[in-house]
Amino acid sequence: MLCDRFEYSREVGVLSQGVSKEHMAALIKINNITGYLPLDLWEILGVIARELEELYYPYKAHFHLAFPQSEGHPKHHHEDDCIHFYDGAEETCRAVAEQLPVLVYDTQTETCSTCQHKDADRPQPHICVPLVSGSQAFGILSLLGSEPVKLSRDQLELLLALANQTTATIQRANLFDHLAREKEALARLNRCHKALNQDLKGTIDRLKATQQQLILSERLAAAGHLAANFAHEVNNASGIILTRLECLDLEAKEKGLPPSVQKDFAIIKKHINRISQITYGLLDLSRQTLQKVTPVAVNDLITETVEFLERQFSGNKVCFSLGLGEAPLIKGSFEHLQQVLINLLTNARDAMPQGGMIEIATGVDSEKRMLIIAVRDNGIGISPSHIDRIFDPFFTLKEKGTGMGLGLSISYNIIQEHGGRIVVQSVEDEGTTFTIELPVNSEEDSNHAGEEADSGH
Ligand code: ADP
Repeated sequence: MLCDRFEYSREVGVLSQGVSKEHMAALIKINNITGYLPLDLWEILGVIARELEELYYPYKAHFHLAFPQSEGHPKHHHEDDCIHFYDGAEETCRAVAEQLPVLVYDTQTETCSTCQHKDADRPQPHICVPLVSGSQAFGILSLLGSEPVKLSRDQLELLLALANQTTATIQRANLFDHLAREKEALARLNRCHKALNQDLKGTIDRLKATQQQLILSERLAAAGHLAANFAHEVNNASGIILTRLECLDLEAKEKGLPPSVQKDFAIIKKHINRISQITYGLLDLSRQTLQKVTPVAVNDLITETVEFLERQFSGNKVCFSLGLGEAPLIKGSFEHLQQVLINLLTNARDAMPQGGMIEIATGVDSEKRMLIIAVRDNGIGISPSHIDRIFDPFFTLKEKGTGMGLGLSISYNIIQEHGGRIVVQSVEDEGTTFTIELPVNSEEDSNHAGEEADSGH
């Protein structure tokens, strides 16, 4: 088919000139340029156009490319105005429609419809070679002569070879462009993937923590229920025993029984009282609902509790260090929160038999909108094998008769009732830190609560 076209060109009179050394040199140069990496397509097309113009003087070379804007190709014009774009949808040239070269001897009498650059006043030869990829023409290499100089068959064949090479270059550039965009999309996806992974890790961590809290809460709830029933029964019985004991004691005194009997009564009374203490502890554990909720100024609560305990701990070589920071009002039960603090401080004292320092700090985690209370000691610490159990009811490592193992489980329940949480960190032989988080009131509530607190605690 191509030959048919050349036949046609012979009809319009092509002057045979043969392929010269210059043709070969230009071909090699174009070959080299099209191998450049990275590929700057517009620059390469510009160089090819200039080489063609030298080879085919007095012809001007143009590329007409069907690059729809939607594909993201920049609308670009080479400085020599040799590169043009057309919408791929519109039929611009017979060469594109038929996918065969078109040779027009005189643009005044015949047209291929691309010849926008033709001079209306004189006859001009025009050659359009389609740039074909697969079954689709995506552009035209157009040579428009300023004078009616005809091309030889060899020159036309060379032109076809160059058009093919240009096609391959454009395809390669498109491929690079496509690859670069794919790479960018892949990098974007990768970044998204990493962020999602990070999110997922955070969610899993939070889920694990919640699950642990849930397990502990369930354990405490079950133990609390059991303890409540048990405490109720034991309390009734110990109440009756105590009353009877008082009667017996009185009788013993009236009847002048020996002091050893009265001493025995005193010992029994002491132990009954201890049983009562334990059962009250159990009742505390089961009685989780906060009865009296008021605005609480936590820093005041800490100062007041420390002043009270300083006297009690005076024989234990324990000193306090307060780092009280910002502490907005929280809604809660002053008495219950004080009970938590007393539990923590008593445990801290017990963990430092040789004495030591208890630090209490407050502050706000504004992101979580939580008030933070940290109680730190430099005592014996808690071993990793015990740390998961310290909030369990009746878990104690203290000597028999000194600890009931209820302080932390009661504290845990109280803090949970306040909508907060309590966590522990400990290093054996270095010390332990208990951190309490309590929800901070909204600003409106705080202001209101502030007024109440002024008139209250
Ligand atoms: P109790 O004090 O009656 O033993 P708690 O529930 O208050 O019960 O505490 C449980 C156990 O947790 C304690 O026996 C102790 O072994 C451990 N513990 C609590 N606080 C500390 C602390 N600050 N340092 C070391 N161990 C602690």
